[in-house]
Amino acid sequence: MIKLAQISKSFGRNQVLNNIDLTVTKGEVVVILGPSGSGKTTLLRCVNYLEKPSSGEIAIGDFKVNCKHPRKKEIHLLRQKTAMVFQQYNLFRHKTALENVMEGLLIVKKLPKDEAKNRSIALLEKVGLGSKLDAYPSQLSGGQQQRVGIARALALEPEVILFDEPTSALDPELVGEVLAVIRKIAKEGITMIVVTHEMGFARDVANHVVFMDGGVIVEEGTPAELFNHPREERTKQFLKRIT
Ligand code: ATP
Repeated sequence: MIKLAQISKSFGRNQVLNNIDLTVTKGEVVVILGPSGSGKTTLLRCVNYLEKPSSGEIAIGDFKVNCKHPRKKEIHLLRQKTAMVFQQYNLFRHKTALENVMEGLLIVKKLPKDEAKNRSIALLEKVGLGSKLDAYPSQLSGGQQQRVGIARALALEPEVILFDEPTSALDPELVGEVLAVIRKIAKEGITMIVVTHEMGFARDVANHVVFMDGGVIVEEGTPAELFNHPREERTKQFLKRIT
């Protein structure tokens, strides 16, 4: 279980997150929705300390980090327990698909090369890229690059995968293949928090949907609750605009 408690974040005088509480149970898919600038990406980045929260606590199972006074070792551990899939893929350009996935297994997990290679091949096959092991990012479509990004995240066997608008940089015809891979791994019980504007995905795949605005969680619930019976005026307005 992942528990964010009272997470706040300011950039200078701009308070972007205001006392966010969020619980994600094991195997759950949580989708975060909200208008541009509402703090969705910042919240996700706080979970693995790509952004340092100004205050609050992050707990993953029994492991807890007090965000005001974290120890270096705790941040290191937190990063091992989480993996991020980025909007812009963030692959190493000079490494092949296989080498991109192997990297974390060699450096973070310190696996022997053969084992890292075999595991990475299996993961690339899983995301439908068994024939692209030796391709460099520049030789892959955006959808294929993002699937390498997903295989790389899976390789680390994190407690949770954090998806930051994983399809928003893609041409529309490539969105489906990436969402299909995310759906597939969601079905396997991988815990995930997904920031996305893909409402169809949120409806079908999420167990829990969170609507954020102005740095707070305005409303949360099951997809049926949030999409069919939103309680808050701000949620209703947002859904009206985007659906
Ligand atoms: P979008 O859907 O457009 O990606 P979002 O809900 O993910 O938006 P964030 O990217 O979290 O929103 O941004 C929330 C606010 O924090 C914005 O006002 C943004 O300008 C500000 N912000 C984000 N990152 C930084 C930063 N590194 N330095 C200063 N301000 C930042």
